Amino acid sequence: MPEGPEIRRVADALQQQIAGRKIDAIRFGLQSLKRWQHRLTGASIKKIETYGKAMVTRLDNGLNIYSHNQLYGRWVFCDTDDYPESKRQLRIAIDCQGKSALLYSASDISVVDDPALLRHPFLRKLGPDVLNFSITAEHIVERLVSVKYKKRQLGGILTDQSFVAGLGNYLRCEILFYSGLHPEVRSKDLDDKKLQLLARAILDLPRQSYQTAGITNQLADAKKMMEQGASFEDARFYVFRRQGLECYRCGAIIEKDSRAGQPCFYCPVCQSPA
Ligand SMILES: [Zn+2]
Repeated sequence: MPEGPEIRRVADALQQQIAGRKIDAIRFGLQSLKRWQHRLTGASIKKIETYGKAMVTRLDNGLNIYSHNQLYGRWVFCDTDDYPESKRQLRIAIDCQGKSALLYSASDISVVDDPALLRHPFLRKLGPDVLNFSITAEHIVERLVSVKYKKRQLGGILTDQSFVAGLGNYLRCEILFYSGLHPEVRSKDLDDKKLQLLARAILDLPRQSYQTAGITNQLADAKKMMEQGASFEDARFYVFRRQGLECYRCGAIIEKDSRAGQPCFYCPVCQSPA
């Protein structure tokens, strides 16, 4: 599933395609949403926001289109007179003064006004967004040591969207490796220095991934590897999907096991249990 950085990059592209434009026509694939088509036509797109892995398209008439892509949702951009062929289910089609944005396959879509957006059941539960640049490491440390989270394993809380929003499985694995922490470690067992390092990683790795289209590895190392012929997929991560390969830091073999229902990749030497 795409994580915060991937969703934000799609939102940026959507923003570039349709923000500031007037909706000439909008069609929803889901029957329950068709009643909104008339009310959205003629409104202008103000901006596209992301909240963790959810996207909100804000209109100038006080209404908003909420969408969550889950696993399969995909935005496609085109000129209005040049829709692509697709066998996927078209869920939203927005035509704005010659430019179109099409959302395929997503099913978690709703139209809500501003007050209802604040009460949205998914958005209401989200923790601070790692791609919100006003969130600092101090905020993250506060959450890590709070009663609610300090006794839980880091491997579990990092992908809990109520702890922070926007992290998924690859970011969880990469943050834990960067911080030198085993997935079973709890923040109550960390000293200040380790807490700071972890909090910085929770913000810095997704932000770097957003800015580089997906690289969490040291940028200089990833660049060098690609210059020497490695593929982007092979160069972008420290440990994610690298089971059986050597750790870049210590040479030990990266392992894979299951945490909170998802595969977890880690170095048994660099990531100490405390
Ligand atoms: Zn290692």
